[in-house]
Amino acid sequence: AGAVLLGLGIASMHYLGMSAMRMQPGIDYHPGWFILSIVIAIGAAGAALWIAFHLREEGRRVVRLRVLASVIMGLAIVGMHYTGMAAASFPEGSVCGAMINGGIDAQWLAVLVIVTTLGTIGIALVASLFDRQMRLRTGILARSLERANDKLVQAALHDPLTQLPNRSLLQDRIEQTLEKARRRGHRVAVMFCDLDGFKAVNDAYGHQLGDRLLVAVSERVTHLLRPQDTLARLGGDEFVVVLAVDEPDDAAVVAERIIAAVSDPFLIDAAELQVSASLGIALYPEDATSERELMGHADAAMYHTKQSGRNGYTFFTPSMQVSANRQLRLLQDLRRATDRGELLLHYQPKFMAAGAPAVGAEALLRWQHPELGLLGPDVFIPIAERSGLIVPIGEWVLDQACAQLRHWHDLGHAHWTMAVNLSPLQFAATGLLEMVEATLGRHGLAPDRLTLEITETTAMKNVESSLLILNALTTLGVRIAIDDFGTGYSSLLYLKRMPATELKIDRAFVRDLEESAEDAAIVASIVALGRSLQLQVVAEGVETAGQRDYLSDLGCDQLQGYHLGRPMPADEFLRNVG
Ligand code: C2E
Ligand code: MG
Ligand code: MG
Repeated sequence: AGAVLLGLGIASMHYLGMSAMRMQPGIDYHPGWFILSIVIAIGAAGAALWIAFHLREEGRRVVRLRVLASVIMGLAIVGMHYTGMAAASFPEGSVCGAMINGGIDAQWLAVLVIVTTLGTIGIALVASLFDRQMRLRTGILARSLERANDKLVQAALHDPLTQLPNRSLLQDRIEQTLEKARRRGHRVAVMFCDLDGFKAVNDAYGHQLGDRLLVAVSERVTHLLRPQDTLARLGGDEFVVVLAVDEPDDAAVVAERIIAAVSDPFLIDAAELQVSASLGIALYPEDATSERELMGHADAAMYHTKQSGRNGYTFFTPSMQVSANRQLRLLQDLRRATDRGELLLHYQPKFMAAGAPAVGAEALLRWQHPELGLLGPDVFIPIAERSGLIVPIGEWVLDQACAQLRHWHDLGHAHWTMAVNLSPLQFAATGLLEMVEATLGRHGLAPDRLTLEITETTAMKNVESSLLILNALTTLGVRIAIDDFGTGYSSLLYLKRMPATELKIDRAFVRDLEESAEDAAIVASIVALGRSLQLQVVAEGVETAGQRDYLSDLGCDQLQGYHLGRPMPADEFLRNVG
């Protein structure tokens, strides 16, 4: 339509100009040439428009094509004009009417045409310069918009502190890495990494230093990785590493390097900071095939590392997954368990080694779960500890066990003692001493009838504060047993200062006593050690008559185990033992 309009415009201009000459007699037009002139005008105008419209951008090629467009446009006008003139034939003796009847002076006309033409070209030039200016400004705006957009994308996908990818970019990266692994048939390792001891740094030195430590950690770890690997920060002290690997061992190598790098002290603001890393690794395709599952599994494996002593790495195994889901549900149930009376105690008898009657019992917690049945403490005590629920539960256990002992004393077994296990959390909580004292008072029990069992690792965690609490408890008259002895790393020096009355040899040593000469030697030396420190030595986990005899011969003071009596409800205990 533009071409027709422009072509007809040019043609009308020409033929109107011709008619303005007022020829007498009139001009004869040859129809063929006439039509051709109009076709040329429309065709060339179309070509010029087409070129011009397709060349809006800048550039050298564009400039050349623009020149071509204007040449074609010029040809359209000129071509049309001369074809139009070829179409016209002036009869012999014809006169130009415009000249005769006082028309415009030819010179004036020429000046007018020149001025108008130059004026029009000038206006067109100014307009196009203006247009160019506008387009330049739009260009600048568009570019700054693009930059702003880039920044937004960066902020939306990266952690502001470390500039590492955040959770949503990580998700994307894992999916891309998985896609590539699927095509090329290799493995992907997703590693969850949590810093141990970071909270302590934050508390002691403040958040600013903590932030700088996180940046330093992220830089160290980044240097260990290849460009195609991803390190992301999920927030807090949680990082995730994604690697394409050939063998699981490759992931283990990287994990070891990360652990080594992180455990090197950091020097920040003249402060030497020491943290370590706990890692959990999940592999594609062995452990999971989706991003979500891989993340969940790596998290569960990391959790496992945390629980088994930190500063290391663990590969995911299916049993961790079950426990991760189950633990969440169990925690919800456990919150209500005390109110619903689902917790109960079983009592396992303790015997003097020489086969004499029972000297007392150890109270062992059980949970009668409405759907899962009777659960042992190994299943739910870690959950109770993590959630802090162990403090009220532990208080209930102590109260319940003391009430039971009171009852047995009243029935005539006044020499029986009761052992109750304490969790590290209870041990660290304030008011333990008062709570124990009040409970004993409430049930009218002499303090030396109660033994509190703390594990070796608990006692050794904060040695000085442990000593304070233990001393206070012994001053009260309560007996202290060091449980699971041999599994921690007690320093003999501290053991000497520890006001304990009893050492309980861990049942792992008792189990292999008869087969393993090494275990037998360990048990023998624990017994000797206990003797020289004037501690009662108790062996737990006695399952066979052979073990019983062996341990008695070694000089163990007390024995406890399935062979002598399983943990059982209070009434059964009274029937069997009493
Ligand atoms: P522990 O204090 O070392 O308790 C001894 C564990 O060994 C008990 O497991 C007992 O049933 C088991 N046992 C006893 N004799 C034998 C034997 O001959 N063979 C074998 N294989 N095992 C034997 P249980 O009841 O499952 O308790 C596990 C752990 O849970 C306890 O270890 C203790 O650390 C903790 N625990 C139990 N009750 C409580 C509690 O009320 N509070 C706290 N904080 N921890 C508790
Ligand atoms: Mg115990
Ligand atoms: Mg034990």
